[in-house]
Amino acid sequence: MRHLPYFCRGEVVKGFGRGSKELGIPTANFSEQVVESFPSDIPTGIYYGWACVGNGDVHKMVLSIGWNPFYKNIKKSVETHIIHTFKEDFYGEILSIVITGYIRPEKNFDSLDALISAIQEDIEEAKRQLDLPEHLKLKEDNFFHLPEGKVVNNH
Ligand code: ADP
Ligand code: MG
Repeated sequence: MRHLPYFCRGEVVKGFGRGSKELGIPTANFSEQVVESFPSDIPTGIYYGWACVGNGDVHKMVLSIGWNPFYKNIKKSVETHIIHTFKEDFYGEILSIVITGYIRPEKNFDSLDALISAIQEDIEEAKRQLDLPEHLKLKEDNFFHLPEGKVVNNH
C-alpha cells in the first residue's frame, strides 16, 4: 500500500472516552495536530506495526485510522493499541510508531461482542504478519533509537 511503512511520533492525548480500556483494548490517541500531518489520502481502517513509548521497548501494535466523531466525522483520528500490558497509563508521553501493513477497512458491528472478536482477530493477524521478515526488520529501525525530531518519513 502507498505511504507504508509510515513513521510517526507524537504525544499521547486523552481520547473520546469511548471506554476502549473497559473492553480490554485501550487505544493511545494522537493529537489532532499529529493526525493532520498524516497523508490526507491514507485510507481509514485497521493497520499494524511497531510502537514504543518514550525510550521503552518496541512492541507489536494494531492501529485504527477512523473518523473522528468530535469533528462530525470530517477529521480523522489515529489510535494505537499496543500489544503489551503496561503497569500504568502513559498520557503525555511520546509515542513512536511505524505502520507496516493494512488489515481491513473500518466496519460497523451489530454487537459489542462482534466488535471485540473482530479486534481480537485483528490482533492475531497483526502478531502473525509482524513475525514475517519484511515487517520484523522495521522493529530494529533507527527511528526507535534516535532522539526526537531527527526523523523524517521515507528515509
Ligand atoms: P482514551 O479515550 O483517553 O484514549 P482509552 O480507554 O482508549 O482512553 O485508554 C487509552 C490509554 O490507556 C492510553 O492513552 C494509555 O495511557 C493507556 N494504555 C495502557 N495500556 C495501553 C496499551 N497496551 N495500548 C495503548 N494504550 C494503553
Ligand atoms: Mg483511546
